[in-house]
Amino acid sequence: MFDITVISGDGIGKEVMGAALHVLDHLNIDFNYNFTNAGNECFKKTGTTIPDKTINEAREGDATLFGAVTTVPGQKSAIITLRKELDLFANIRPVKSYPGVKSLYDDLDFVIIRENTEGLYSGIEEATEERATALRVITREASERICKFAFQYAKKTDRGKVTVIHKANVLKKTDGLFRNIFYKIAADFSDIRTEDRYVDAAAMLFITKPQIFDVVVTTNLFGDILSDEGAGLVGGLGLTPSANIGENYGLFEPVHGSAPDMAGKNIANPSAMILSAVMMLNYLKEYETARNVENALIQVLIEGKTVTPDLGGSASTIEMAKEVINKLEGKL
Ligand code: ATP
Repeated sequence: MFDITVISGDGIGKEVMGAALHVLDHLNIDFNYNFTNAGNECFKKTGTTIPDKTINEAREGDATLFGAVTTVPGQKSAIITLRKELDLFANIRPVKSYPGVKSLYDDLDFVIIRENTEGLYSGIEEATEERATALRVITREASERICKFAFQYAKKTDRGKVTVIHKANVLKKTDGLFRNIFYKIAADFSDIRTEDRYVDAAAMLFITKPQIFDVVVTTNLFGDILSDEGAGLVGGLGLTPSANIGENYGLFEPVHGSAPDMAGKNIANPSAMILSAVMMLNYLKEYETARNVENALIQVLIEGKTVTPDLGGSASTIEMAKEVINKLEGKL
């Protein structure tokens, strides 16, 4: 039995969450869901986008599933607050091609691990009339833990190479430190190959030769940009899941937002949310079930019959999820 904190949020967040929970309900695992609130609708009801109660409930569960929220400019970001409060220092973004999905490449399978707590997003900015600055903070502690996490992740998932992406030729002190720490940590993982690349060259290689990547580890801003580039390589937002991991907590969310233009129509692609639930199952060490759900989704994508409009079909969000469940029958 697992206690799962569920934050559906706004817009299509609610629809794709409903679809993913429907799939989870058909597995041979007991989940106890604790539904809680964040986002813009929550703001309208409670005056805050992320109540303390929600943060505490996320702390209490075995894992958190997060749909999507609409962030109105000027409001506190629910997801950034959760990442900070739960110290979710690692953002994992798989770049994986799925059959039946129109993509630039059909043979990709690599993972981007982005440092989630500091770098250029440390939140330390200053402005006068004439000048504005943002502080790019790279600490030994945060760099060690993200690099160690990347190597451990590579080891656990049988991946042979970790690439660090940086700009140490220009950002000599900050990225110099990050790269040096990467190689120091690498020494403890002698069976895993290493490589370092400048971010500009890596951005081009993502387009021209993405097959060379296996596990990528990088700082906050570079990771943010490169992971969207990665999503663009493999069919876009409807298919891209993510995980936010800390020492004690895991939060799983699709990369897409609340898509107000699609909300209420029940046509959002549920794949990114279902694949986020697959990442959660792996986090909970339910490896076989995770594989089964992913394979069932792959079958639905290959058949291409019961898929949502963005994939060329006419199925609703929930119909596509039900088709995943049909493919699971007999495999559990
Ligand atoms: P937000 O303000 O919450 O970030 P947004 O509309 O700016 O919302 P996204 O929700 O990430 O940003 O979506 C951008 C566009 O991508 C949507 O308008 C929609 O057309 C498409 N999209 C996003 N998610 C999905 C999905 N699950 N299925 C199909 N299309 C999607």
